[in-house]
Amino acid sequence: MVDFSGFYKKTRQERIDILSNARQISLESQEIIKTDTNLPETIAGKMVENHLGTFALPFSVLPDIVVDNMHYSVPMVTEEPSVVAAASLGAKIIAKSGGFITTVHNRLMIGQVALYDVADTSAACFSISQKKAELLEMANAAHPSILKRGGGAQDLTVEEKGEFLIVYLHVDVQEAMGANMLNNMLEAIKEPLEELSQGQSLMAILSNYATESLVTASCQVSISTLNIKQDLAKEIAQKISLASQLAQVDPYRATTHNKGIFNGIDAVLLATGNDWRATEAGSHAWACQKDHYRGLSTWTIEEDALVGSLTLPLPVATVGGSIGLNPKVQVVFDILGHPSSKELASIIASCGLSQNFAALRALVTTGIQQGHMKLHAKSLAMLAGATGNEIDIIATQLRQEKHSNLETAQNLLFNLRNKK
Ligand code: NDP
Repeated sequence: MVDFSGFYKKTRQERIDILSNARQISLESQEIIKTDTNLPETIAGKMVENHLGTFALPFSVLPDIVVDNMHYSVPMVTEEPSVVAAASLGAKIIAKSGGFITTVHNRLMIGQVALYDVADTSAACFSISQKKAELLEMANAAHPSILKRGGGAQDLTVEEKGEFLIVYLHVDVQEAMGANMLNNMLEAIKEPLEELSQGQSLMAILSNYATESLVTASCQVSISTLNIKQDLAKEIAQKISLASQLAQVDPYRATTHNKGIFNGIDAVLLATGNDWRATEAGSHAWACQKDHYRGLSTWTIEEDALVGSLTLPLPVATVGGSIGLNPKVQVVFDILGHPSSKELASIIASCGLSQNFAALRALVTTGIQQGHMKLHAKSLAMLAGATGNEIDIIATQLRQEKHSNLETAQNLLFNLRNKK
């Protein structure tokens, strides 16, 4: 096992070296990190419309997280200070109790053809059900390569909702997210469905409510590891459990609770070239599956452990979309050890729960600002105009100030420069 202690205090070069040795990153990947090679213009210009250039964000790493008894270093792309530090701290504390255990419940994507103006919905449902095997065959014929890969359309269901008759196609998309794959299949069965239902098709499209791509990450944190003082450790555990209850009853808190979870999840989705809008949309819908919007994770006390659990739809991919195009994304997969899409979903869910744990722990103890402002101080110093050594000097001074804001940073910088 590699010792990552003090990783954050190392120089950038030292971090790259430690990571390269620990995770056996290829020389090519190391070069891409070191030389800051970005998305080449020749590729970026073909990926989107009206291309002007590329847009950079900090590329960091959570050095060590234990997921299903495996150690991973997880690349994160985020502009927000304290996200990587919090996720890393959460993962470190939880590793002392064995880390995260995950379950990938299923890995199917759902798409829909919405039919309207169907005169006799019962007759339409019957006709469609009778032709289910042929419809599945037609769907698969629209994207035959997925069958060869062991996937393909597996089921077709019909539901009447309001004035619509909705046909759902359930597809095993293997390592892809499957949007284009499903859209091809759905468009292929659109006309036959119109004929069978004697209705009109309004649209044929993948659904981002990926309820058949659910993943659960859970952990059992030994309460004694939460603080050296055992009374305090128990109090922290109780307050985290209470904070989890708060997120179940109050949508105002639930939204921020889930934002914290997505601080971790989005950073990894972005780093791995995945469609974070798709995951966000699906997960927020999942958070509303009961009577109102709720926190996605829960924390309860069971004997001597604080038990965390997070379930959400994570239809993440290791191929497809822009994943193969961006050289940095290839480096990310190299650092992760080239996981399968199911393993990647397990890692990402664990990062979300780790982030959530760290945020709740901070909130119920010192408050979120202490850690956040410590790291945000550097951003404030840079915003004030500090460069080089000035950044750390101003950030250190800012932390001792009552009002740690931009105006104070500007005043401190003025004083520093005029002393010289
Ligand atoms: P692609 O269209 O890129 O399809 C996946 C590709 O991966 C296929 O070319 C497939 O090859 C290839 N592949 C290689 N190995 C495998 C494997 N083991 N398993 C599966 N596929 C493999 O991507 P998706 O269909 O996944 O669509 C994702 C993209 O669509 C994202 O960029 C997303 O942002 C976008 N999108 C999202 C929408 C939404 O969320 N609502 C709507 C529309 C687009 P082959 O063809 O030979 O099988």
